[in-house]
Amino acid sequence: MTDPDQTSDIVIGIDLGTTNSLAAVVGKEGPRILHDADGRALIPSVVSFLDGGARVVGSKARAMSVTNPRRTIHSVKRLMGRGLSDVAAELPRLAYEVTTDGATDLARVSVDGRLYTPQEISAMVLTEVKQVAEAALGRTVEKAVITVPAYFDDAQRQATRDAARIAGLTALRIVNEPTAAALAYGLDTSREGTVVVYDLGGGTFDVSVLKITQGVYKVASTSGDTHLGGDDFDNAIIDRILELVAAKTGYDLKVHPQALQQIRLSAESMKVELSAGETSTLEIELDAGEPFRFTLTRAEFEDLIRARLDETIACCKAALADAKISTGDVDEVVLVGGSTRIPLVRRMVEETFGRTPHTELDPDRVVALGAAIQASVLAGGNRDLLLLDVIPLSLGIETVGGAFAKLVTRNSTVPCRAKEMFSTSVDDQTAIDINVFQGERELVRDCRKLGAFKLRGFPPMPAGLPRVEVTFLVDADGVLTVTAKEQRSGAEASIDVVPSHGLTRDEVKGIIRESIAKAREDFAHRELVELRNKAHNLVVGTKRVLAMPEMPFTDAQRDDLHSCIAELERLSHGDDAKALSKACDAFGEKTQALADEAIGAAIKAELNKELGRLPS
Ligand code: ADP
Ligand code: MG
Repeated sequence: MTDPDQTSDIVIGIDLGTTNSLAAVVGKEGPRILHDADGRALIPSVVSFLDGGARVVGSKARAMSVTNPRRTIHSVKRLMGRGLSDVAAELPRLAYEVTTDGATDLARVSVDGRLYTPQEISAMVLTEVKQVAEAALGRTVEKAVITVPAYFDDAQRQATRDAARIAGLTALRIVNEPTAAALAYGLDTSREGTVVVYDLGGGTFDVSVLKITQGVYKVASTSGDTHLGGDDFDNAIIDRILELVAAKTGYDLKVHPQALQQIRLSAESMKVELSAGETSTLEIELDAGEPFRFTLTRAEFEDLIRARLDETIACCKAALADAKISTGDVDEVVLVGGSTRIPLVRRMVEETFGRTPHTELDPDRVVALGAAIQASVLAGGNRDLLLLDVIPLSLGIETVGGAFAKLVTRNSTVPCRAKEMFSTSVDDQTAIDINVFQGERELVRDCRKLGAFKLRGFPPMPAGLPRVEVTFLVDADGVLTVTAKEQRSGAEASIDVVPSHGLTRDEVKGIIRESIAKAREDFAHRELVELRNKAHNLVVGTKRVLAMPEMPFTDAQRDDLHSCIAELERLSHGDDAKALSKACDAFGEKTQALADEAIGAAIKAELNKELGRLPS
């Protein structure tokens, strides 16, 4: 294992949270969290702008959220890569101003008349994380793996990359938070299985169903509530206090921002205390009269939050239903997020899934630890596995004659998607094999087979008539899903594979080198295969036309066509590309002339189909 303190290419893992952010790294003793000089790991994801252009980030900023509300920016993760119209529902909850730059709908934060992109604010948090990491490691840090929620779309992921760049960090990879959590628990070592990640943080709840294929995760479904988390539990306690204070003293604390800020911090402390103990007591000094004492038991607190936790369980059930599985199919449950320290949360999750969830790692640090594990892989550290950030080798399927049709080309960035239409090569096929390959060569026999599946259940049709749409989708975790759909009948089938599985960097390099060395030879082979396909299509099309009773051919024309077909078939079996090419051209001209002369559009359409044909 590489010691990050020694290598020049250090990569840290960062959990860039809505509420808190933190960094971790893999060292000699394995993954570890990086702490600041005061021993704190969690950096509140908050930036507060002060007078005179100064600003503070982290816990100092969080402390200002009540006294400096309009200039204290929290939860900026909710705005990342979003338009103002997307986040309209958020705005009443934010004490600061959110607008647009006027030219686009993209959300901007407005402070003291200056506009900031969410990326810039997020970069300020990342800069703080970077500084803490650099101080802890005693060296500069320029590269990171950063986590995002599984449901983040391309724009939100890109915004996260941009934030890193502004902070002087290269985001080598954007990793899904649940995937990172599962990695931290080492669950990727089992080859097949289903993992549920239950993540209850400060302001958001996410549940993800992950399916392991060949040791790599695929997000099968996600559910959650973007406004359900620890803040709600704090608010439940606050409301209780305000109610009791009002009842006892007639005092309305809501109109006293300073007092309210104090109560907010106290409420959170009470909540945290109740995760460990059975009661918690608060004393507030009110201006007049005796101090107000308030005691909350764990049972009372549980009653305050039970309804919201029921909602999280409903989300879990929805996610399972989406993934088309039941609780019995779940192999592991992982708890993530500070709020899963609440004992009632653990009990409810355990009851729901009928198994003890993983809680061995700190729930608010587990995502950062998983990110650090990914980071060490990218830094060339402890595992000889190739993780995807770009597609290292082209991906495609076999077409007739053993040719390799590339759908996704090498070096496309993940996630990515590609689509192409194919058809059948033989009449009356009701099933086709989709053979998925990876490589840079022209023929599949020189590529690496990743998997195969059958598309069945479409009605018999003449060759070339079925329209089979093949889609390649590589998700952020590098899992490739290939789907084939026959458009006329709706028949559909798919497969998941992990293209990087078992491939090392050196193997990839070797494969690319070989493809360059063999380029000329491959080109000739490929040309021959394509000529054979062309000849095949000409033969099939012509035979079909000959079989049509309404076609006004003379016997001489029929004989001529039959002998041309025989010649094409003979040449197709040999490997004289030149002769085959000539014969195809000559035959093409002949049938074209016939078509123009006598048959019109029907034959032309038959002969001019351009869809790639799949093997029978
Ligand atoms: P996020 O992923 O949203 O950035 P975290 O995972 O850091 O957030 O969770 C933060 C939340 O966890 C806060 O609401 C905090 O009060 C809560 N929390 C932290 N520790 C505990 C605890 N011991 N008991 C209950 N809640 C806790
Ligand atoms: Mg989190």
